[in-house]
Amino acid sequence: MGNFRYKMAQFMLGRNGFDSFCRGMLMAAMVLIFADIIVPGKFLQTIGLVLMLYAYFRAFSRNTARRYAENTWYVTSIATPFRSYMNRDHKNYRYFKCPSCGQMLRAPKGRGHIRVTCSRCHNTFEKKV
Ligand SMILES: [Zn+2]
Repeated sequence: MGNFRYKMAQFMLGRNGFDSFCRGMLMAAMVLIFADIIVPGKFLQTIGLVLMLYAYFRAFSRNTARRYAENTWYVTSIATPFRSYMNRDHKNYRYFKCPSCGQMLRAPKGRGHIRVTCSRCHNTFEKKV
């Protein structure tokens, strides 16, 4: 077993390895592959397999500069927004953007029409929550 790990480490030398982008794709691939329990047909499963192959291709790739750039893109434009979306309290709050500056705002649900003042630009607007 020690020998195998050594050989694996030798094999991975100079290669990209499983970065956040790879792990994200493998996770998405798992969900898509098992989604055919709910969604009939092989369409989602095929996308899942493609994602999985691409994740392995990236992990074993020697073009680490390119892979690093892709990983940075993934973390800033997919993983971080996704995580902040998942961390929101959708049960008790309604989330929306300020129409003038785009700042994310939230207000407690079920209050009807309210007047919102943006925390960043102090623009006021009406919103139904
Ligand atoms: Zn604003």
